[in-house]
Amino acid sequence: MKTALVCGAGGFIGNHLVSRLKAEGFWVRGVDLKFPEFSETAADDFFIGDLRDLTVCHRALDRNFDEVYQLAADMGGAGYIFTGENDANVMHNSASINLNVVDTCHKRNIKRVFYSSSACMYPEYNQLNPDDPNCAEDSAYPAAPDSEYGWEKLFSERLYLAYNRNHGMQNRVARFHNIFGPLGTWQGGKEKAPAAICRKVAAASEDGNIEIWGDGEQTRSFLYIDECIEGVLRLMRSDFEGPVNIGSDEMVTINQLVDLACDVAGKSLQKQHIDGPLGVRGRNSDNRLIEEKLGWSPSMPLRDGIQRTYEWIAGQIHQQ
Ligand code: NAD
Repeated sequence: MKTALVCGAGGFIGNHLVSRLKAEGFWVRGVDLKFPEFSETAADDFFIGDLRDLTVCHRALDRNFDEVYQLAADMGGAGYIFTGENDANVMHNSASINLNVVDTCHKRNIKRVFYSSSACMYPEYNQLNPDDPNCAEDSAYPAAPDSEYGWEKLFSERLYLAYNRNHGMQNRVARFHNIFGPLGTWQGGKEKAPAAICRKVAAASEDGNIEIWGDGEQTRSFLYIDECIEGVLRLMRSDFEGPVNIGSDEMVTINQLVDLACDVAGKSLQKQHIDGPLGVRGRNSDNRLIEEKLGWSPSMPLRDGIQRTYEWIAGQIHQQ
């Protein structure tokens, strides 16, 4: 039986990844500061531990694994990473986790770790035009991310690739672009735009208002969780080390995303634009490299993912 370790298995993507690996017949160990919030974990072995602590890493990696996935990070949506209030924690916590995990794997002779970087590492100067952002993988330098979260991601992706060059590892690095779907954080300040918008639409009356941060003309693309997991596994099991984008190239404005959620919900809401943390003006996944290297790229329409996510969040609100 093949074995996998998922670091960050209590988080949104990690929890889905554990379920997928179990469905493929793996024996799976998960480690996280917390259990998944909205479902039971499917992991065979799950322990609560802080990966900033080297002894926890040693315990998590006390055996060999066929596949190791490192998704643990101190992160959240724009309300968490763009306000500046959490910068020191984000940098210290996530860098500590990555330094510990990659070095422990190296010392345990585990050759391949999947690392989840983020589109937030791309330079702000290429993302000022909402109609034509440049997020090709080779546009990363000169580096100028707009958040400390992005700087830590850039540092850590370089760390994993340095272990490849200097220690004969075969780590894999992906840059995720706005992953969303059921079982993700949808309230409390760490939720991201699709979940926040679905929540606001679900909670509004048929002809009520919806608050949107900024003018809503900033652009983004959003990738449904199942396609993210598919991309992760394909990259992990390929000959390509990355870094490579895993994202959707169906770019929309935030206003269009709101319209889509309203349409799915059958509601007609008045948009109210208010001040809020925004991030870059435009961002879209450039999928040319993933197509070239993996012969695959995400293809699910945004509407289908929003439909599934809206239904799940509306159900959560109903249960409260
Ligand atoms: P998440 O916050 O739901 O999951 C991260 C998990 O890491 C959490 O469960 C958290 O408890 C855990 N964690 C944090 N500090 C820890 C520590 N010291 N020890 C052990 N566990 C710890 O986030 P997610 O959306 O599932 O993201 C997974 C990874 O993908 C992260 O590295 C994130 O930066 C990256 N990413 C996500 C997105 C996205 O849109 N969701 C986009 C780009 C990159």
